Amino acid sequence: MKFTTKCIHGSDKRYDTTGAVSVPIFQSATFMHPGVGQSTGYDYSRLQNPTREHLERTIANLEEGADAMAFSSGMAAEATLMELFSPGDHIIASDDLYGGSIRLFQHISAKNGIETTLLDTGDPDALKQAIRPETKAVFVETPTNPMMQITDIAAVAAITRPLGILLIVDNTFLTPYLLRPIPLGADIVLHSGTKYLGGHNDTLAGFLVVASEDLSTRLRFLYKTTGACLSPFDSWLIVRGLKTLAIRMRQQEATSHVIAQWLRKQPKIRTVHYCGFPDHPGYAISQKQSSGFGAMISFEVDSEVTARRMLERIRLIYFAESLGGVESLMTYPYLQTHADVPEEHRRAKGVNERLLRLSVGLEDAEDLISDLSHALED
Ligand SMILES: *Cc1c(COP(=O)(O)O)cnc(C)c1O
Repeated sequence: MKFTTKCIHGSDKRYDTTGAVSVPIFQSATFMHPGVGQSTGYDYSRLQNPTREHLERTIANLEEGADAMAFSSGMAAEATLMELFSPGDHIIASDDLYGGSIRLFQHISAKNGIETTLLDTGDPDALKQAIRPETKAVFVETPTNPMMQITDIAAVAAITRPLGILLIVDNTFLTPYLLRPIPLGADIVLHSGTKYLGGHNDTLAGFLVVASEDLSTRLRFLYKTTGACLSPFDSWLIVRGLKTLAIRMRQQEATSHVIAQWLRKQPKIRTVHYCGFPDHPGYAISQKQSSGFGAMISFEVDSEVTARRMLERIRLIYFAESLGGVESLMTYPYLQTHADVPEEHRRAKGVNERLLRLSVGLEDAEDLISDLSHALED
């Protein structure tokens, strides 16, 4: 089955006898046992729920993983993932990450005795040098947030696999439509389903997809024990969003090409970070490992005044956190997603008062350009 079809028919399991075309919302906390020591396969919704299972099978299928678990948010998925590690363990992560991931590593994981080294995972030599005997995982975002750096997943897997180090990839930005890390050698894929998978800026969700049955067993134990599972209704909303994933990604990406080109020509814009530019440093790797460049653009304007004025003037594009939905959103990483990242770290990565991030939605490109153009006027 092709990807576009899998988005719609990604779970072949039928959950009722009425012939309902849309998976029913099984709004039940618990399930009756047919007899002592017997189960229908569903016991209690923290462990299994048919609506959520339908979603999880679809996601596992799209990512080519052995299993997927649906969480109440991307951060809930990530916090549960960190329970795989113990005091004394060491993790290497990309140095330009979603701000919430940095906060989790530096505040919660650090307190639990798990040390994190942040570096450019796009540099395999730097990565190799940072590995210690206690290194248990490498955590990669590609493209990174918000600077759009690219990591070669197969090259990292070639380093981590022989050492038994887990390779974890946050695939929120590209989604399995454009990038499938598991066939490239990743062990675990993380998603904020809030973004492109749901796609409508209306539901929080998160996913962990695993490459092996062993990881499924270990993470399913943590999942049922810590309990940050996705509700049946929210599972249904993500199932519905997923049906149009391929077509949304295709159009959002096409529009973002047009917008990125236009931004580059504006006198008040200094730099545009967009993976789809042939002169982007990660372009060749993107072409090799993914089937597209996504719909995220960040750009640096000439002054803080211009940045603030743009955020106040945009009308069609909303000034709001998040990304990946049908509505275009602009964010100010310096004061929003990355506000908790230490100042010197933000500056070193180029996350400053002049940097804006745009998530290109499904509106017409001409309307988006007219909104941006108005926001850039003197
Ligand atoms: C939003 C986001 C997260 C966190 O997900 P939530 O659903 O907001 O909890 C993690 N990683 C990336 C890349 C994100 O964009």
